[in-house]
Amino acid sequence: MGKDIELMAKKKPTLVFNHANLTFEQKKVSWQSRLGYGLMILSGILVFGFISVMISHKIFPSPNEQNLNRRIKLLQKEYQTLDKHLDLVSEDLGTLRKRDENMYRVIYQRDPIDDKIWKSVENGTEKYDLLTKESEYKVIGEILKKITIVRNTMKLQESSYNELADLVRRKDEMLSSIPSIQPVSNRDLTRIASGFGWRMHPIYRIPKRHEGVDFTAPTGTPIYVSGDGVILNCNYDGGYGNCIIVNHGYGYKTRYAHLSSYAVRAGDRVKRGQKIGLVGNTGASVGPHLHYEVEYNDQKVDPALFFYNDLNKEQFEEIVKITNARGKSFD
Ligand SMILES: [Zn+2]
Repeated sequence: MGKDIELMAKKKPTLVFNHANLTFEQKKVSWQSRLGYGLMILSGILVFGFISVMISHKIFPSPNEQNLNRRIKLLQKEYQTLDKHLDLVSEDLGTLRKRDENMYRVIYQRDPIDDKIWKSVENGTEKYDLLTKESEYKVIGEILKKITIVRNTMKLQESSYNELADLVRRKDEMLSSIPSIQPVSNRDLTRIASGFGWRMHPIYRIPKRHEGVDFTAPTGTPIYVSGDGVILNCNYDGGYGNCIIVNHGYGYKTRYAHLSSYAVRAGDRVKRGQKIGLVGNTGASVGPHLHYEVEYNDQKVDPALFFYNDLNKEQFEEIVKITNARGKSFD
């Protein structure tokens, strides 16, 4: 019986047919190929074992793993809460921006901050793009992006408030600089001949935009500067004739044209109500008058909006009528 088992256990020799001498020969198996075969089986067992352990751990996690999973879930919840808080902070910053734009900047006549500049608060978030693409790090990537935006927004808002605070400190200076009186006294004024808008040009006989207001008054009538500022130009300027340009700062400039003479020079500092020249008929003008323009941020604006305090109700209504009518200008 023992011998039988021994015989059965004996490995059958592997026979190979030899085509040359047409006989079966015993194939010799080298120890290297035996070793390779053994290793292959061993690695197969290892891989199978590893996968089995992985699956069983997935279905029946160990207490340690259960604990870790609980902590991961808790962390995820905390991240989500943080994310919501960041959204609330962003909303609050949005409210501050609206107040800045619609209240403070309106009061101090400042243009709102450009949308392009607001868009720049997103600069620096692109470095978290890769992170947000990985599902595992998506939340943390989004949070880092939001923190970057909040920090940039706060910096921008702070610089805006600094600018506004500076304006508050210089409020008196600003109020005395913004053009706000009529440059020719009502006492001397024959009439306000033409307002701001489209007019038939008295010399060129074509419809032309009249970018100021004409005050008719005798030659030699004093002209008063409408706000504090610095004389920017004081010279003969084509159709404008003898012309003075005053820079008031805060985006404002005024122009006084067709003068007969000057009482100031370029570079002089002037105070509101100071005499700067006399009414004349120089340049493209059809009679003695002052052509007065107001510019805000390099755009011509209706000067009537800057001296209505000097007018009584009837005069103001007349100005509005003139401004809206398509009459002739003196230019
Ligand atoms: Zn004019």
